[in-house]
Amino acid sequence: MLAFLRPREFVTSIYDINLHHHYERGLRSILTDLDNTLVEWNSPVATPKLMAWLEDAKTIGFQVCIISNNEETRVMEFAKLVGIPAVYKAGKPRKRAYRKTMAMLSTTPRETMMVGDQIFTDVLGGNRLGLYTILVKPIHQQEFIGTKVTRKLERLVLRQMPEPTINKVNEKSER
Ligand SMILES: [Mg+2]
Repeated sequence: MLAFLRPREFVTSIYDINLHHHYERGLRSILTDLDNTLVEWNSPVATPKLMAWLEDAKTIGFQVCIISNNEETRVMEFAKLVGIPAVYKAGKPRKRAYRKTMAMLSTTPRETMMVGDQIFTDVLGGNRLGLYTILVKPIHQQEFIGTKVTRKLERLVLRQMPEPTINKVNEKSER
């Protein structure tokens, strides 16, 4: 069970993902969570930094699609704002929405990365289907009340994991 909870990478934010590297080794699609992964929870504002990151990803050759458990209005308005497709009320970690999203993009699990800030939804669902899972640190503390309980469990899982791999250097320099 623990193996399914373990992300393949643990980084500070989406900006620390080495997109060129993953493209070179065959990944072609990015499924990404929305709240606390791309922007703060329920924030309708797309930062210039996020817009630049999405442009970079597309330029490299990635397709990007939001996969979120949040409501239709929240998810689709944001998706429209940043100009990428999205799947709302995804029911992560259930497999169904991941399959639907991959079908939409015509991508296979082997070519797909799943990026998100929660182990028990984003990472677990992605791992169950064999996607390349990347856990990011949540952008902001404020979030849906139900999430607070799972955060405690996440800390237990993370305690058994090595430190974030890619960002070891950055993390140290922050201290
Ligand atoms: Mg999230």
